Amino acid sequence: MFDAILPRFNVSVTYIDGTLVENWKDAAKSNTALFYLESPNSWTYELQPLKEIAEFAREKNIITFIDNTYCTPVYQNVMDLGIDIAMQTATKYIGGHSDTLGGILCGSNALMKKNF
Ligand SMILES: *Cc1c(COP(=O)(O)O)cnc(C)c1O
Repeated sequence: MFDAILPRFNVSVTYIDGTLVENWKDAAKSNTALFYLESPNSWTYELQPLKEIAEFAREKNIITFIDNTYCTPVYQNVMDLGIDIAMQTATKYIGGHSDTLGGILCGSNALMKKNF
């Protein structure tokens, strides 16, 4: 999606090591619109400092978006950490039986109405 689809819409992506808030600060540009997070991540289970990243992003008017699939909302309430939008795949842990296909986006009414 980041390399093949978004460039068609004139959206560029910068990849960073997301485990340090300094890396997010260094990568933010004047036109950065969104931070895409995943913590813990699927492959190495590294954690990102979500609260600190969200605080910085809010100062810069950057939307924070997290794939919270691994922890699910049961084990990690990212809204409490200041994240703007949370994505869950319902296909795995929420469905639980490999017999569903679904996804969930959560955010404030205002943000969701404006962007989706
Ligand atoms: C599997 C997975 C997805 C995709 O979910 P599907 O519902 O199977 O498309 C997204 N994010 C993470 C972290 C996943 O493990």
